[in-house]
Amino acid sequence: MKHQKNFIINDIKVAPGETKQINLDVARLHSGTHIDLLVHAYRSAKPGPVILVLGGVHGDEVNGIEIVRRLIANKHFNNLLCGSVIAIPLLNIYGFLNFSRDLPDGKDVNRSFPGNKNGSLASRVAHVLSDEILPWIDFGLDFHTGGSTRYNFPQIRYSPSDEKAIELAKIFAPPYLIPSHPIDKSLRKVAQERGTPFLVYEGGESLRIEDFSIKEGIKGTLRVLHAHKMIKEAPPVAFPTVTLPKKRWIRASKSGMFRWLRQSGDSVVEGETLGIISDPYGYSEAIVTSTQTGILFGHNNASVVNQGDALFHVGYK
Ligand SMILES: [Zn+2]
Repeated sequence: MKHQKNFIINDIKVAPGETKQINLDVARLHSGTHIDLLVHAYRSAKPGPVILVLGGVHGDEVNGIEIVRRLIANKHFNNLLCGSVIAIPLLNIYGFLNFSRDLPDGKDVNRSFPGNKNGSLASRVAHVLSDEILPWIDFGLDFHTGGSTRYNFPQIRYSPSDEKAIELAKIFAPPYLIPSHPIDKSLRKVAQERGTPFLVYEGGESLRIEDFSIKEGIKGTLRVLHAHKMIKEAPPVAFPTVTLPKKRWIRASKSGMFRWLRQSGDSVVEGETLGIISDPYGYSEAIVTSTQTGILFGHNNASVVNQGDALFHVGYK
């Protein structure tokens, strides 16, 4: 059992029963400033699972960072009844500094796993996590938001071929469960290949703090801890969890100014009006209709869109 071992992170030992904060040296900025990754390790003396709670793989997805920050600040991990939590609120510090998903080299950490210690910045950040953290954990919770202006209604993405991930996703019990095969070189894929299941939580949109998505992320995390007897209580499930095994994007047929009339969380039927795209001069309007009956689990908040842009994400059975 992984919990029995002493964690060695950045040559610092964290034994069962100990709680420590560790600064992991990642690299330097062009200004010469050191970039340290702050890792919180909370360990009960009693055996149990080791869980990674991770935010900020994408530096602009602030809800994810805020979920982990609140869990730490509200001391949810301070008196674990068993097991361990490793909490990292912000993995991609470079992206956070630049209000960007990616690193200054334009690369995405979540397409750079397992990484390389001599590689690009993204590859180095991925390597630090793969090398220093993944060996110690049993499973992970990775907190994200929709990319760019796309809003995601609180949901968990998990691998449908991974029994443990399915079990964890049901325990987390977000409004929507989205089974999806992981992308090559993503954290979820590389961890799964090493036998470590990951749930990817998506809630809200980048660069926008949204309390609903943050609270759903926190509640789900507490339910996972509670199911493993690590904490005494967990919030009840307020929404019936809906699994959406199939999904498709409804895209812009024209470029122009976009107003949505239906939004994430709404049930829609094929042919229904979802939004309007207008030219800026008052000549024409195009109706965006649903090509699918299902549930909107994501939508685009962009005010101006281009032909082909993804506007609504519909999930269905
Ligand atoms: Zn993300």
